[in-house]
Amino acid sequence: MMNYMNDLNGLYEKALNLEFLTAEEGLFLFKEAPLTNLMHVADELRKKQVPHGKVSWQIDRNVNTTNVCIANCKFCNFYRIPGHAEAYITTMDTYREKIQETLKWGGDQLLLQGGHHPDLGLKYYTDTFSAIKAEFPEIRLHTLGPPEVAHIAKLEKMTHHDVLSALKAAGMDSLPGAGAEILVDRVRRLVSNGKCGAQEWLDVMAAAHQLNITSSATMMFGHVETLEERFEHLIKIREVQSRKPETANGFLAFIPWTFQDVDTLLTKIRGVQNLTTGEEYIRMIAISRIMLPNIKNIQASWLTVGKKVAQICLHAGANDFGSIMLEENVVSAAGAPHRFTYKSMQDAIREAGFEPQLRNQEYKWRELPSDIEEQVINY
Ligand code: SF4
Repeated sequence: MMNYMNDLNGLYEKALNLEFLTAEEGLFLFKEAPLTNLMHVADELRKKQVPHGKVSWQIDRNVNTTNVCIANCKFCNFYRIPGHAEAYITTMDTYREKIQETLKWGGDQLLLQGGHHPDLGLKYYTDTFSAIKAEFPEIRLHTLGPPEVAHIAKLEKMTHHDVLSALKAAGMDSLPGAGAEILVDRVRRLVSNGKCGAQEWLDVMAAAHQLNITSSATMMFGHVETLEERFEHLIKIREVQSRKPETANGFLAFIPWTFQDVDTLLTKIRGVQNLTTGEEYIRMIAISRIMLPNIKNIQASWLTVGKKVAQICLHAGANDFGSIMLEENVVSAAGAPHRFTYKSMQDAIREAGFEPQLRNQEYKWRELPSDIEEQVINY
């Protein structure tokens, strides 16, 4: 394989041939390529990888199983320690009410996640998923994340494979790429020491892919990581995807998003602020498209960067706008202020010059329900 270090045109060509750029090559492009060139290369790659040219989006609701957590992540304002007055475990009555609303508002999925509760083992999750599926077989469960799976495996002294098999049998449809932050242990020790390490996150995903559980991958950046560590993260994700069984989807999407810093411990104690500019985010989207030629969908995080920057990302390699998130409590608790409705989401995509296409978690098209109701409550 040729090494095109310090040769921008050679690197553009290598990227356009869908070859794997090294971390050094990617970093050189990220730092040195003019923004318009980087966007152009990523846009060409989007057209190759997603030739239908539409921008997909989704309607789902982020519901939390529990806010009790012992992981103590320094960027998280959502969790409560065990025994706290505001601690909760969501009941079936609440799930029922939230699912009925989700269906009424056109949604087809719960993104179901929560904290690392010290007393909730595998049975709690399998019982919950089975009960939801028994009552609402049409609702898809995009649930947990590698750190929660690793936590359950430790509590139960089981393998990732066996935990995931049981969760899948109980109704887990797909595994979100949550809790990746930056997949480098130096960073994880500083921001999320109580969560699984980088290798375990990757191992859980590899086990999910072996079981043909579709997943996504994320990156939360803009805190204590170096640029080199962002590229280490991208390459680790790419390597796991390269090892997935041919018939499995593996990572169907990659979603980079920025650290939200309002009132977090990371900001209050360490003075860490998210200084990511709009241009830097657009570069990260473009470089994600370039560095991950084996992941088809790149999602722009409108929730953390806002509508305008996310719209530009659609011309910089992104082909997906994610969900309107009928409910979201975790990232919002650290300051993400942006909101979309099913109407404004489609308007934003059209304004950016693309045709919006509603999809499900497997990136299969959905018809927008004709009797959809506008969400009327604020949570
Ligand atoms: S991000 Fe998740 S694991 Fe970390 S403290 Fe918050 S709820 Fe717990």
